[in-house]
Amino acid sequence: MRLVFIGPPGIGKGTYAKAISQKYGIPHISTGDIFREEIARGTELGQRVKYYVERGLLVPDEIVVEVVKKVLQSPMCSKGFILDGFPRTLKQAEELDKITKIDLVFLFEAPLEVIVERVSGRLVCPKCGAIYHIKWRPPKTPGICDVCGTPLIRRKDDEPEVVRERYRIYKETFAPIIEYYRRKGLLVEIDSSRDANVVIADIERVLKEKGLTK
Ligand code: AMP
Repeated sequence: MRLVFIGPPGIGKGTYAKAISQKYGIPHISTGDIFREEIARGTELGQRVKYYVERGLLVPDEIVVEVVKKVLQSPMCSKGFILDGFPRTLKQAEELDKITKIDLVFLFEAPLEVIVERVSGRLVCPKCGAIYHIKWRPPKTPGICDVCGTPLIRRKDDEPEVVRERYRIYKETFAPIIEYYRRKGLLVEIDSSRDANVVIADIERVLKEKGLTK
């Protein structure tokens, strides 16, 4: 089950990916998460991508493709994977086709205002990556991760004004990629203005319909 998830920042993609990843035992591979982690750990890769990530600029294709290729060819991806945040350029999409065959591409959509409301209340755990929402998915103890007890943070790029700008950039960046997969007949559009559990059930229904799960 080799999947690509596409959607604007804040749509809930991370939450859907985690649920599907757990249910079917395939890894959720977010290039953004990989880069943030490498930067936090101060690795060589982290140092190479820091400049771009901190400015919201695209990391050069050669670097991203090299990272993704390594991950996808590792044993952890033998049953499949969910790619999140990759591909982000046509070049990356073409390179991905050389690495492996993609089964399905989910495109998550919702009006911008729905996204802004979701995102401004979002909290994440800097240690284990768990995601919360002040209103809809509050942690048991305010501000503390249920899973590992680490104080939660609001990602800098979850600020409303940053979200609007990133939405604009998302639309621009992903238009050719969405077209690319639409033409290949791999694109499945999912209305994500609904509750996360409804969206997740919808993804599962599609996976079953397409014969990717039993
Ligand atoms: P994200 O969490 O997906 O928004 O990614 C955070 C940042 O990591 C982006 O703003 C880029 O700087 C970088 N990044 C993540 N994925 C890619 C990609 N596929 N191509 C280029 N840069 C990326």
